[in-house]
Amino acid sequence: MRSTELFSTLAHQGTSSGAVGVLIGAAIFAGVMLVILVLISRSIRELRHGADRFASGDLRKRIAVRGPLQLAALAESLNTMAGQLADRLSTVIQQRNELGAVHGSMVEGVLAIDREQNILSLNRAAAAMLSLDVTSTIGQSVYVAVRNAELQQLIQQTLEKDAAIAGEMILADTGSTAQGEVSERSIQLQSALLRNDSGQRIGLVLVLHDVTQLRRLESVRRDFVGNVSHEVKTPISAIKAAVETLGDLPDTGGDDAQRFLQIISRQSDRLSAIVDDLLSLARIERVGDEGLIDARQVPIWAVISAAIETCQAGADAKSIHLHADCDRNVISKINEQLLTQAVVNLIDNAVKYSEPETSVLLGCEINQGDVVISVTDQGRGIEPGHLPRLFERFYRTDKARSRELGGTGLGLSIVKHIAEAHGGRVSVDSTPGVGSTFRIHLPAC
Ligand code: ADP
Repeated sequence: MRSTELFSTLAHQGTSSGAVGVLIGAAIFAGVMLVILVLISRSIRELRHGADRFASGDLRKRIAVRGPLQLAALAESLNTMAGQLADRLSTVIQQRNELGAVHGSMVEGVLAIDREQNILSLNRAAAAMLSLDVTSTIGQSVYVAVRNAELQQLIQQTLEKDAAIAGEMILADTGSTAQGEVSERSIQLQSALLRNDSGQRIGLVLVLHDVTQLRRLESVRRDFVGNVSHEVKTPISAIKAAVETLGDLPDTGGDDAQRFLQIISRQSDRLSAIVDDLLSLARIERVGDEGLIDARQVPIWAVISAAIETCQAGADAKSIHLHADCDRNVISKINEQLLTQAVVNLIDNAVKYSEPETSVLLGCEINQGDVVISVTDQGRGIEPGHLPRLFERFYRTDKARSRELGGTGLGLSIVKHIAEAHGGRVSVDSTPGVGSTFRIHLPAC
C-alpha cells in the first residue's frame, strides 16, 4: 500500500473513534449533570419541606444539611433560625403562662376592653364580682355585659379625659341577708388606658376591688362613734350644770374647792367640744357617703363673709386683721352651712396659731376649672414632716399647745370631710416661721 492510501485509511479510522470518544464524554457529562441536578432538586425539596414545617409551627425536627455547598449553608441557616424561634416561643409561652397564673389568682378583678368597648379579657375574680361567664362574655359589649351606670360613667370619663380615673360602684349582691334584705356590694374601680407601641389608644383596663367589708366596718365605726358621742353628751351637760350650780353656792369650800371646780368646768367644756366635733364628723361622713348633701348654687364670697363674721371677735381679741380678696362671680354648688363651718375652722386655726397683730387673708378664685378657697396666715407654719398626716383625726403637731389653745384635734379632719362630701379635696402649703396656706378645692359646676 502506498503511503498516501495508508495515511487516508488511518485518518478515517481516527475520525470515527474520536466521534465515539466525544459521544462517550458527552454521555458521561450528561450523566454527571443529571446526578447533580437530582441532588440539587432533592436538597431544594428537603429545604422546602423543612421551611413549610417551620412555618406551620413544628420547630423540633431539623433539615438535613447536605447537597451543594450553598444549599447546605442555607439549610444550616434555616435550622439556626428554627432553634432561635423555638427558644423565643418557649419564653413567650412561659411568660404567658406565668401572667395567666397571676391574672387568674388575683383577688382583684381585671377587665380589659378594646376601642369599641367590647370585652377583650377578664379574670376569674372580675367574672365572680360581676356575675359573668368568662368564655361567653369575651367579645361582648361591656355595656351589655355589665349594666351598671357608675361603671359605664367611669369608662366614658376615662375615654373623654384620656386619663386614669378612680371610682366606686354599688352592685346588688346575688344572695340576700338572713333577714331577707337584698345586700349590696361596694366595688372600688380604677381605670387605666391601654396603648400600643406608637402610643395610640387601643382600649382600657379596669381593676375592680371588693371593698364591701371595709365599707361595712367604716359604717359600724361611724355609727359607734356617733352613738357614743350622743350618749356622752347628756352626762357632760349634767356635769357642767352641776359644776356651775356648785360654783354659784355661797358656801362652796375655800380656794381649793373653787380651783377644782374650775378644772372640772374647763375639762367638761373640752369634752363637750370634742363630742360636738365627733358628732359633726359622723354627720358629714354620713351625708357625704350616701350622697345626701343638700347643695345649691351659692356665691363663695357669701360663705367667706359669713365665716369672717363668726371669727371676727376671736381675731380682734388678738389684734389679727382678717381680710378677703374674693372674686364675687365665683359661684359653686355647695351646702352653705357646711362650707361656712369648714372656712370657720380654717380661720380659727389661722388665728390660733398666729402671733398677735398679724394678718389672715381669705381668697377665692377659679383655678384649673376648680373653685379654690384659700386661708393664708403669717403664723408659725408647719414642719414638712407633719403635712401628710395633718388632716387625720386627732393629729396635732404640738399636742400640749393645741390643748392649751382649746383645740380638739378634729378641726382639719372636719374641713377635709366637708370638702370630700362636695366632691372636692383639701391641700396645704406651709413654711415654718413664715406661715401657711390651707385650700379647699371644689369642682366647678
Ligand atoms: P386643733 O384643734 O388641734 O387645732 P386641727 O385639726 O384644727 O386641730 O389642726 C391639727 C393641727 O394642725 C393643729 O394641732 C396644729 O398643730 C396644726 N395646724 C392647723 N392649722 C394650722 C395653722 N394655720 N398654722 C400652724 N399649724 C396649724
